[in-house]
Order: sequence, then structure tokens, then C-alpha cells
Amino acid sequence: MSRVFNFSAGPATLPEAVLEQVRDDLLDWRGNGMSVMEMSHRDKAFMSIAEEAEADLRKLLNVPDNYKVLFLQGGATGQFAFVPLNLMPEGGSADYVVTGSWGKKAIKEAAKYGTANTAARPADDVFNHIPARSEWKLDPKASYVHYTPNETIEGVEFHQAPNVGEVPLVGDFSSTILSRPVNVAQHGVIYAGAQKNAGPAGLTMVIVRDDLIGNARASTPSIFDYKAVAEADSMLNTPPCFAWYVSGLVFKWLLDQGGLDAMAERNHRKAQMLYDYIDSEPFYANPVAPADRSWMNVTFTMANAELDKPFIEGATKAGMPGLKGHRSVGGMRASIYNAMPEVGVQSLIDYMKEFVRQHG
Ligand SMILES: *Cc1c(COP(=O)(O)O)cnc(C)c1O
Repeated sequence: MSRVFNFSAGPATLPEAVLEQVRDDLLDWRGNGMSVMEMSHRDKAFMSIAEEAEADLRKLLNVPDNYKVLFLQGGATGQFAFVPLNLMPEGGSADYVVTGSWGKKAIKEAAKYGTANTAARPADDVFNHIPARSEWKLDPKASYVHYTPNETIEGVEFHQAPNVGEVPLVGDFSSTILSRPVNVAQHGVIYAGAQKNAGPAGLTMVIVRDDLIGNARASTPSIFDYKAVAEADSMLNTPPCFAWYVSGLVFKWLLDQGGLDAMAERNHRKAQMLYDYIDSEPFYANPVAPADRSWMNVTFTMANAELDKPFIEGATKAGMPGLKGHRSVGGMRASIYNAMPEVGVQSLIDYMKEFVRQHG
């Protein structure tokens, strides 16, 4: 068996140590004689898994006591609808800062439930930078301001959460959560699908400030009403038990690595290595404004797009799958989440150099 360097955007690479633990636990979790997959979610064994995962996530992100951490299903895409249903009253409005494809989907979904204002969005949807904060048109009466801290498809990242005053800030952290420290207190809601940087698909994490809970519209499905879910400790119905457990192991792995300060340092270094090489080699280009380049998803193109296919196929053969850019933008994308080791990034750079020698 040999593992590849998996550059997929999501579901994505997981720490090998976590997978080994899952394998060791698979038939018999800690002497319980069964897999976590087979346990009742009401059982003491699973309750302890769930509680530890929440405690570790709180520790990693330094979540203040006046925030609830919810473990849900429905993905980030579900939250595109459940955020407005929980936070925006009938006939209300919210502001959206659109810096890429996921923000576009979020605002489109929110518009089903009220007025979704575009507070900022690059002209002609050329998503290669974050519009200057001074140009944003924010409405002080909006129910919330929504932004996408890391746009996974274009590789555009906020390196600092924006200051939006008193209006609650809502962030779709799907592809950047746990890659670096976050000031949770600056946000009203943080949500993320687990499958990019936290664990397997099927789990959605929502971190929500207490005062934003309990205002859902009457028509909100109970399983997505933050209040109903919080009161049931995320067990209003059967939660995604196995994904919750594996994510919990990832949280422990992150704590072992030194927490999010250590991860930020490592992730910054990995991304910088790759951007430095791309900038130094005219054969490749990254279109994103240097100050807004993602640490998690590094996009790049070649002048001759006909070479994309041989580049991607050759990389897959060399043990580096997942480099194809999203179908909406083309080119290449290297997703280098927490579990991608530095040697994986180095091996991609070596491959890129060799590709230039053969095709440059
Ligand atoms: C992947 C992704 C989504 C979609 O996530 P699902 O869990 O599949 O709904 C939304 N937003 C961002 C930023 C993403 O990276």
C-alpha cells in the first residue's frame, strides 16, 4: 500500500495518524465490542466521544462561553438557507460580501428568504481580490453581514476578519476552519462543512452566539433551528456519528501538533513555498492579488491551457491526484489543507519544475 499526496479540494486528505486510529478502532472501539458506526448515539460511549470532540474544538478555536457549538448535517450549502431562516426575520435583509463562487451561491440562496444585498463584489465577477473595506456598502439595519473567509474555488482568502461594527458577522469557514486561529468573538455565526479541513463529509459545524439563537422563523425545520438543536445538544435526531468521531480524532491530532498557532505557521510556510515558485517561474501564473492569496487553495494556470490535461494526468501518475481546477474556472488548484505535509508541497514543486523542463 502506498498513499498519495492528495491535493483534492474536498473531501480531502486526512492525517495518516487519524486514519490509523480509525482502523485500529474499527471493529472494537475501546473494548466496547463494536464500531462507533454501530453505537447508539444515546449510548454513554458515543456521548463521551461527542463531548470530547466539542471540548477539543472549543479549545482549538478558543470559543467563548457565550457561543454554542452545533454538530449538524446538510453541509455549508444547508447553512446558506439556515442562516437567513435563523437570523433574518420575515421581510428582513442581510448584507453579502461576495468574493467568489461560494459567496455567489450563498447570496442566491438567501434571496429566497428576504432581501440579500450585495455589499461588495468585484466588477464582472472577476474574483481575484477582496474589494477594499472602504468600498463596502453596509446597511446598519441588516440582520447580518455574510462573507466567505476562504473562497475554495478561486483561492481568495481574507487574512483578517473584516470589521463590520455592531451587525453580526457570519462566515462560511468551510475551507479554512482550523487552518489558523480565528477571533470567534468577532463573529455572530461561524459555519463549516467538515470535509475540507476537519474530517469526513457528512458533518457541519456551526458556532453561534447565544443571543442569535431563538429567533428562527416559525417555518424553519426543527433540525435546522439553532435553538432546538442547541437544546438537544445536537442530538435532536441521529447525528452524523461516525463523521463526528473522526473529526474528533482530527481535533486531537491538531492539539498534538501544537494547536492552531502551529498550524498557521506551517500552512503559511507551505503556501508561501508554492506561491514563491509560481511567481519565480514565468511558465506558471496565479491570478490572485498577493495580499489576498489563499493559504489553503493555491490556484495556477499555464499560458497554454492545452497543457493542463497532460500536467494533471502526469501528476496523478506521479502520486499527486486532485490538481484539476474547479470546472467553473479551469486551470489547476492545489488544496494544501492541514493534513498535507510540507514534503507533499515540495514534491509538487519538483514536479512543476520537471514539467517546465519538458514543455517550457
Ligand atoms: C465546499 C464548500 C461549500 C459547500 O460545502 P457543502 O458541505 O458541500 O455544502 C461551501 N462553501 C465553501 C467555502 C466551500 O469550500
